[in-house]
Amino acid sequence: MDYRNKEGIGMTSMRTRRRLIERLESRGIRNQRVLDVMMNTPRHLFVDETIRHKAYEDTALPIGFNQTISQPFIVALMTEMLLDTDAPVNKVLEIGTGCGYQTAVLSQLVKWVFTVERVRGLQDEAKNRLADLRYRNISYMNADGFLGWESNQPFDGIIVTAAPEENPPHLMEQLSVGGRLVVPVGTEEQHLKVIARSAGGYTEERHEPVRFVPMLQGRE
Ligand code: SAH
Repeated sequence: MDYRNKEGIGMTSMRTRRRLIERLESRGIRNQRVLDVMMNTPRHLFVDETIRHKAYEDTALPIGFNQTISQPFIVALMTEMLLDTDAPVNKVLEIGTGCGYQTAVLSQLVKWVFTVERVRGLQDEAKNRLADLRYRNISYMNADGFLGWESNQPFDGIIVTAAPEENPPHLMEQLSVGGRLVVPVGTEEQHLKVIARSAGGYTEERHEPVRFVPMLQGRE
């Protein structure tokens, strides 16, 4: 499918997109680069045609395989947290490609995105979609994200879009010194965490409560 010819909602889409960006600002997103990139990323092309009219509402939506595309506010917040550092953020690892929306946002803000998805069917769809939309600075792997991406470590930033029960040790090890990991941690009750690596070890901040699908072991 050629996604570039699917911009059929035209003006409506741009207007609703702008309204979404205003909502993100009013909820506290301050990073203008993140807001600009989300304004320019066609979220409606990442979801099924039947729910496309909801693509610019600030809600999570189903993407098949029992998974969801994250709520735009959470995508913006996690991206802002990832970039909130004086150190350069060039190489980013994303765990949980899903439909590829967060991947597309990241690819416009950093030099290279490495993205890992455990469900092959989701990965294939995301890869085709992102290639059609001409996002090129992305490497894909179908694997268990708990293990990170050993051969390409260390990463300046790591973002996880499914929730592990505990801090994921291999991902922490694959951070560069000065790097940061943004991850929702917990089971019934989850919180966003930012885990930063310094020469002396790790520091951790706990942020807002969130609701992500669980991070699962193995791949399919
Ligand atoms: N960022 C995605 C979020 C999708 S939901 C989006 O906005 O579309 C979470 C995703 O994490 C799902 O696709 C799920 O299959 C994937 N996932 C869960 N556990 C994983 C693991 N251990 N390794 C890699 N991906 C995982």
